[in-house]
Amino acid sequence: MRAREERGMNMKERIRIAVQSKGRLNEDTMALLAESGIKVGVSKRTLLASARNFPVEVLFLRDDDIPQTVADGVADAGVVGLNELHEREADARIVKRLGFGGCRLSIAIPKEQPYSSVKDLEGRKIATSYPVILKKFLQEHGVHAEIHVITGSVEISTGIGLADAIFDIVSSGSTLVSNNLREVEIVLESEAVLIANKGLSAEKLAILDELVFRLDAVMAAADKKYVLMNAPRECLDAILAVLPGIKSPTVMPLAQEGWCSIHTVLDESCFWEIIGRLKAAGAEGILVLPIEKMIL
Ligand code: ATP
Ligand code: MG
Repeated sequence: MRAREERGMNMKERIRIAVQSKGRLNEDTMALLAESGIKVGVSKRTLLASARNFPVEVLFLRDDDIPQTVADGVADAGVVGLNELHEREADARIVKRLGFGGCRLSIAIPKEQPYSSVKDLEGRKIATSYPVILKKFLQEHGVHAEIHVITGSVEISTGIGLADAIFDIVSSGSTLVSNNLREVEIVLESEAVLIANKGLSAEKLAILDELVFRLDAVMAAADKKYVLMNAPRECLDAILAVLPGIKSPTVMPLAQEGWCSIHTVLDESCFWEIIGRLKAAGAEGILVLPIEKMIL
């Protein structure tokens, strides 16, 4: 890998990344940074913490404040839910989707209510903590509804007669079920995203590029396994036919005459499907190892 200076990284410059201080995104964000070699000492939670081995400092904030803080340049980058970014309408650039914090923003109504289209919401009262996104959605569909903004426990609004429908975050849907609601419109599919200020200096952009390079390597490896197996040489073709989409697995001779070792990278999801077929084709001593990083 090229040295940092060579890639244009000024050793004195650093970037400040805004991260949720506590809540659903904090742990995954800090884990992703740590796997990227960016370790922040947070034994005693402070507002601002420097990484020991990378020119980054982490600013811990409520997620509501992250988009604006990045748009203003108080932080250079941030990790926040797409839902929060859209709601705050902050002028920041989405650098990368991060693959965690998945959820959706949906409209739900009492489950016994009939519903055929978004027009059925005309004149209705909808409770939400996301008025900006909801207003845009209704406008796009030419529907006039009353938006009632509440910050917590949106899901009980219909039950207590506060609203006819809700617009809220859904992940498994179990909260809806336990409140007698059903999801009728998915308005936004959300996940955590890395965002950046639009006016970063060349030096800061170089650091951000290095960070993204590392995130790519960690994320590419996330659902992959390194698989090794031994087999008699004459079984090789049958085994290679079972391995999906692999351009060129490594095949090495073993000390034992006529035997070889086959190494390859597999998606974890397909591994269980093909393990039986690998054994049937003659593979033995199959080892499955986690991959920490993958540079593509
Ligand atoms: P803060 O104190 O930082 O304002 P919060 O209470 O607003 O936190 P959390 O509940 O911690 O926010 O959720 C943070 C983000 O996690 C959400 O904005 C959303 O992008 C994502 N998320 C993923 N799954 C869920 C879920 N089931 N419920 C709520 N948020 C979820
Ligand atoms: Mg919040």
